[in-house]
Amino acid sequence: MTDQNSQNNAAAPGHEHLVVALDGPAGAGKSTVAKRVAHELGVRFLDTGAMYRAVTLRALELGIDPGDHLGLGTLAAGLALDFNEEGQVLVEGVCLEPAIRAQAVTSLVSEVSAHGSVRDAVVARQQELGHTWPGLVAEGRDTTTVVFKDAPFKFYMDASSRERAKRRSKQEGREKEIESIQSDIERRDHYDSSRAHSPLQVAQDAHVIDTDQKSLEEVVHLVLSIIRGDSRDQA
Ligand code: C5P
Repeated sequence: MTDQNSQNNAAAPGHEHLVVALDGPAGAGKSTVAKRVAHELGVRFLDTGAMYRAVTLRALELGIDPGDHLGLGTLAAGLALDFNEEGQVLVEGVCLEPAIRAQAVTSLVSEVSAHGSVRDAVVARQQELGHTWPGLVAEGRDTTTVVFKDAPFKFYMDASSRERAKRRSKQEGREKEIESIQSDIERRDHYDSSRAHSPLQVAQDAHVIDTDQKSLEEVVHLVLSIIRGDSRDQA
């Protein structure tokens, strides 16, 4: 850890093993905010969705049916999932970016990640990483409710599906495809919120942040001020 990072980390006194959990639906800006907050605090960033995407990519390559919960569970349990310093997911030491962001993976990942067999394996690895790393900002759908349910700092980031589709289409340079991006986001919202295992839900003790009218900078500032206990800035 650099001197600057140590200094930043000192801004959240009393939390030597700092765990920040941040959940919300697709396209709410969680990854960007989580990465920035992790950087400011000098801790690691855990992209839990990337792990489900990695399992999905491997399943596609191996021709495992997205409904085959036993096959997928065995696959997930046997994959050596890790991250590099940039926060990119590795399988057997190989970085799978940007392949895990391909449309074929995005279309199937919610179905694959809905299986309890897959979640058990992936969550166990997430908890192991969270335990090993000296501090982290974890981002996903169940980090506040399951994976790090005892985290001292929990956030739920939300925005309307229209706003989320707008941001995503701009980010990916696909402005003309806003309608299809919005329907994909709504389909994933429905899948992620209605599944039997660890559905997306707001943890009782999470700070809910509606990002519709807020810039990225404002959200990062708000999250950091809550973690640092600066009551003047809190919403
Ligand atoms: O965050 P991202 O959009 O990359 O996540 C891809 C998918 O992985 C989500 O739509 C969801 O189905 C699944 N996921 C999950 N639990 C997490 C993170 C992601 O089920 N903690």
